[in-house]
Amino acid sequence: MISFNVPPVVGGEKENIADVLQLRKISGDGKYTKLCSEWIEKKTGTARTLLTTSCTHATEMAALLLDIQPGDEIILPSYTFVSTANAFVLRGATAVFVDIRPDTMNMDETLIEEAITPKTKAIVPVHYAGVSCEMDTIMNIADKYNLKVVEDAAQGIMSTYKGRPLGTIGDFGCYSFHETKNISMGEGGALLIKNTADIGQAEIIREKGTNRSRFFRGEIDKYTWVAPGSSYLPSELNAAFLYAQLCKAQEIYDDRMKSWNLYYELLKPLQQDGKIELPFIPQECVHNAHMFYIKTKDIAQRTALITYLKKHEISTVFHYVPLHTAPAGEKCGRFSGEDKYTTKESERLLRLPMYYGLGDSNVEKVAECIKAFYC
Ligand SMILES: *Cc1c(COP(=O)(O)O)cnc(C)c1O
Repeated sequence: MISFNVPPVVGGEKENIADVLQLRKISGDGKYTKLCSEWIEKKTGTARTLLTTSCTHATEMAALLLDIQPGDEIILPSYTFVSTANAFVLRGATAVFVDIRPDTMNMDETLIEEAITPKTKAIVPVHYAGVSCEMDTIMNIADKYNLKVVEDAAQGIMSTYKGRPLGTIGDFGCYSFHETKNISMGEGGALLIKNTADIGQAEIIREKGTNRSRFFRGEIDKYTWVAPGSSYLPSELNAAFLYAQLCKAQEIYDDRMKSWNLYYELLKPLQQDGKIELPFIPQECVHNAHMFYIKTKDIAQRTALITYLKKHEISTVFHYVPLHTAPAGEKCGRFSGEDKYTTKESERLLRLPMYYGLGDSNVEKVAECIKAFYC
């Protein structure tokens, strides 16, 4: 059986966790949290990175930092994971969905402006499959209307747009280290902060609304409750696991990219014959091989292909019921304009097995099987 995903274990995780046990500092913000944050800061150039318990929580922190209030609106794609919307809806905001571009499955930047109302507070682009949204256009619109930008870069670690790491372009960027992502800590994430002015408040929100971070740095002699906040910091055990993976980030990247490129090469003839569509990577984007998907003719063909592949012991998945059609989305959101592509394209998309260590022979087997289905 070829699994759809196998969580990465790259070596070094056990040793780092043993080190934490030895150090007897197991709660958050110890040696490994610091090492992970510094790694991300150095790699991306962001002003500050705070490790969090998930990407969902990093996005919730961004919503708190933007002081999102009931009645506010945020603009996001409908084709995304629930967390992109939930973080803001939890604060009482309305999710305003815009259609996606069929080529990248990212929010269509040309539809954002007409979705803006006097209540709009932020734009939340999602970099689907680690392929960047059209960020220059999005940042220009945000500037023009004085809106904030929160990047859902859950899938975007090590990807860039015009050379700039995803998650560092908007005011805030959110990474996921869930076990389904390229680099993992089981459950976890990070908040990337662009403006130094936001760092202090972010630290407070993450530490239960206290100024404990300043206390630990010796800047104040006792800590206290200074603002509403929550508990968004992961334990050192998780951070130690993550640091081992960050140290091998390039190896993980290279391995996944090799599989991605091989899929592309082997399936290209099917695209040329008009049987399937392959992912499109805009010229200004460098992606991270987070996902390899194909698009079938329609939902019926996708269902048939999934069954066929399953019979040949290959596990494939699709995802994201468009949020505007989900029960909570109908209640907490609205679609701006017409759903030209969101539903139609999401029904055609199929994700192929993709993980660190997948290997050429498995990729060949999957590609052969898809070819056999179509001939
Ligand atoms: C995985 C994912 C999330 C959620 O990440 P968690 O770390 O599990 O909270 C959010 N948005 C997108 C686009 C994702 O792919």
